[in-house]
Amino acid sequence: MVEQIFREQTPEEKKNFTDLRKWRSTDIKQNALKRISEIEYDTTYKQRKPYCTKCAINEVDSQIALVNKSIEKARRQGKTSIKYDFAIDYKQFSSEKLFDLVNTSEIVEDKLLDGIRQRVQTGIYKDYVCKICGSAQSMEIKNREMETKKTHLPDSTKA
Ligand SMILES: [Zn+2]
Repeated sequence: MVEQIFREQTPEEKKNFTDLRKWRSTDIKQNALKRISEIEYDTTYKQRKPYCTKCAINEVDSQIALVNKSIEKARRQGKTSIKYDFAIDYKQFSSEKLFDLVNTSEIVEDKLLDGIRQRVQTGIYKDYVCKICGSAQSMEIKNREMETKKTHLPDSTKA
């Protein structure tokens, strides 16, 4: 189990060679959350695809738990440093294979057209469910004004 963490590392990962006294799981988590929110924004807002933040955070937590475990072991063995592997591919949580599209519905709004109030379709909602953790995500795809609305929060979009 621990051996997986001590595998041969790529140059990119070599910076993860760390002094045990300098390991701060809170800092690691902070950086990871920042990266996740960047990718989530890019995926949901720019690419209009669902992203499972919950799965991404779960992965970070389980990786941190693994490193913590191997640190405990290293300490018991009197070591002062370890290599740890923390190369998570955050983009995997935006894969469309990760989600089931469970519902598609029209966004219908009242609009004033030629002085007459009419019901018009202004876009569609796409409701997704993550196959791994089951969390739901609703995307609002507007015909226009796609840039002006934040869309991946079901509560604000359906209000
Ligand atoms: Zn998920």
